[in-house]
Amino acid sequence: MTTSTPSSTGLRGTPVVPGVAAGPALLVRGEVSPEAIARFGDGNFSDADAAMAAYDAAVSAVAATFARKAEKATGPAAEVLTASAGLAKDKGLRGAVSKFVAAGTPLLQSVGAAVEQFVSIFTTMGGLMAERVTDLEDIERRVIAHLVGEPEPGVPTPSEPSILVAEDLAPSDTSGLDPQLISALVTERGGATSHTAIIARQLGIPCVVGVAGAMDIKAGTFMVVDGETGAVEIGTDVEEAAERVAASQAARAALAAWTGSAETSDGTPIKLLANVADGPSAVDASREPVQGVGLFRTELCFLKATEEPSVEEQGEIYSTVLGAFGEGQYVVVRTLDAGSDKPIAFATMPGEENPALGVRGLRLSFGNPGLMDRQLDGIKLAADKTGTETWVMAPMVATVAEAAEFADKVRARGLKPGVMVEIPSAALLAHRMLEVVDFLSIGTNDLTQYTMAADRMATDLAHLTDPWQPAVLQLIAITAEAGVQAGKPVGVCGEAAADPMLACALVGMGITSLSMAARAVRPVGAQLSQVSMDTCEAAAEAALGASDPMAARAAVRALLAG
Ligand code: PEP
Ligand code: MG
Repeated sequence: MTTSTPSSTGLRGTPVVPGVAAGPALLVRGEVSPEAIARFGDGNFSDADAAMAAYDAAVSAVAATFARKAEKATGPAAEVLTASAGLAKDKGLRGAVSKFVAAGTPLLQSVGAAVEQFVSIFTTMGGLMAERVTDLEDIERRVIAHLVGEPEPGVPTPSEPSILVAEDLAPSDTSGLDPQLISALVTERGGATSHTAIIARQLGIPCVVGVAGAMDIKAGTFMVVDGETGAVEIGTDVEEAAERVAASQAARAALAAWTGSAETSDGTPIKLLANVADGPSAVDASREPVQGVGLFRTELCFLKATEEPSVEEQGEIYSTVLGAFGEGQYVVVRTLDAGSDKPIAFATMPGEENPALGVRGLRLSFGNPGLMDRQLDGIKLAADKTGTETWVMAPMVATVAEAAEFADKVRARGLKPGVMVEIPSAALLAHRMLEVVDFLSIGTNDLTQYTMAADRMATDLAHLTDPWQPAVLQLIAITAEAGVQAGKPVGVCGEAAADPMLACALVGMGITSLSMAARAVRPVGAQLSQVSMDTCEAAAEAALGASDPMAARAAVRALLAG
């Protein structure tokens, strides 16, 4: 149980990676000093060409920093950094700066004005593009720092293990983080699916986001972060903190040592599966104690493709994922979830006003049925080639008619059809969906977004984009119950499945499989192995009966501890 000394004071945010850490606050302000900017003034350039030459030199230096960091990073972090290097050198951005300079605006203000233009374009585009606004602002600060002769802003290297406190973190801040020196992340903004949360999960360090007032903490202040409760404490007794950290580390080590089998303490089997993006991530996941893949996000294979790959090419790509799994395992392939935060050049509709509510996912096949047919043919090729048991599901399904039509196409190819439950209408009609498909998989990231009408990428709505919200839990419970009644599998493949406490409540509702980032599988499996089905059911009831996410977490925590 978490306690704090009477003298400690606290802030609270949304907990995203469990664990307790303590240490001095390491603040990332990320601003260039106003004195250096004042000293630089208008830069005293002889003409516009000289000003642009200085801009080009600064941009090259910034791109080189990103490229260096990308070399040291792996996986998604490396990709994001390479993209940032490209964005820094963007010709459109340079063109905008050059226009302001030619019109007589001083260079620093020209950079600011050009970035502002791009920020507003990206914000209007929404989704993944809006998420790049933090990257753009980061690039602006770095370019300005180079121009005025200051070091690039970013995370200082601490001399002792510290807690990183920031307003929000850009990929360039987090890519090189050493978990030996940064023992937790706390941000004032950001949500459960923010970049900060993803990196913290990768590093396996406690993380709390959306902590109002975090930036008022003074650098060096001793603090305790609890990634399970969302508490950020100041003034906690150092010895008490050390005990809590040691207990948490021991608990995390025990969880990480779990290797199976996936069942509750009284023997109810649960399928634990991995979410993968491509062949290499599937091979990595196959080394974990999983029964296969619960979500293969096929669109992530095509983020850079300008043209639709042929059926044969798709078959090859899908085979690299299916081929990583064999006897007794299965792979759930999701058809293209293009659009909104995942634009794909050959599939998505440009210029939608509100792409999250637009023609995304399954809806793209309404006007372009061949796109779906060819993908299903590619999946069939891969299934036949590898012999791996293959289930296929569609994203963004809103009506039973959509589910029925999709199921016919999948069955015609001898594969097992299912649909994702990401839209409240699908959850409310889960029992009817199950009359036409063989399984359901709840995408809690989008189900939360659409239930709470809160953009999953919004940095200031973390309290709403929380799968512990009672309304979201109700919809999950309705869906799970429909599965129990129909005797068909209902899984969860959104971020909620990776939360060990929530996993127990989900199983108690009747969820039969949990699919998550491969790294999260062991802690979830270990937690489930420690509780009986009765406790899971009690956890479900307690979570559903709570008035808000924090009360739900507290109620489930108390039950699991007892
Ligand atoms: C979800 O929405 O929960 C989900 C798993 O799909 P994605 O995160 O790819 O939208
Ligand atoms: Mg989704």
